Amino acid sequence: MKHKLLIAVIIIIFLAGVIGSVLVLLSPTKSHVRVLSDGKEVYAADLMQAQDTVFDVAYQGHVNTVEIQDHRIRVRAADCPDNTCVHMGWLSSASMPIVCLPHRLVIEFTDDTRSVDAVTR
Ligand SMILES: [Zn+2]
Repeated sequence: MKHKLLIAVIIIIFLAGVIGSVLVLLSPTKSHVRVLSDGKEVYAADLMQAQDTVFDVAYQGHVNTVEIQDHRIRVRAADCPDNTCVHMGWLSSASMPIVCLPHRLVIEFTDDTRSVDAVTR
């Protein structure tokens, strides 16, 4: 009896994985993004539905100004010393998140295509 339950659980986990992979593969474009500040999610949105907006993300007295325009997202301005996050421009790739190391800020797509690649390859 215990054995059957274990098999059922394994099948459910397997099916959930398959369904999840199919859903990710079927999604036409990556549009869900999130903004992490010091590892914590401070903003999440579907860019396809997001209105144009500008908002500040503060970390220990420093600020990154994040802009959403025409269903894209970028760091418009920042007071970090290197400004790498600003120079990275619009977020375009799931494998290349916008990162501001000094401010511990990350802007990334939440659909992780890399894990799907790992399963299919
Ligand atoms: Zn920066």
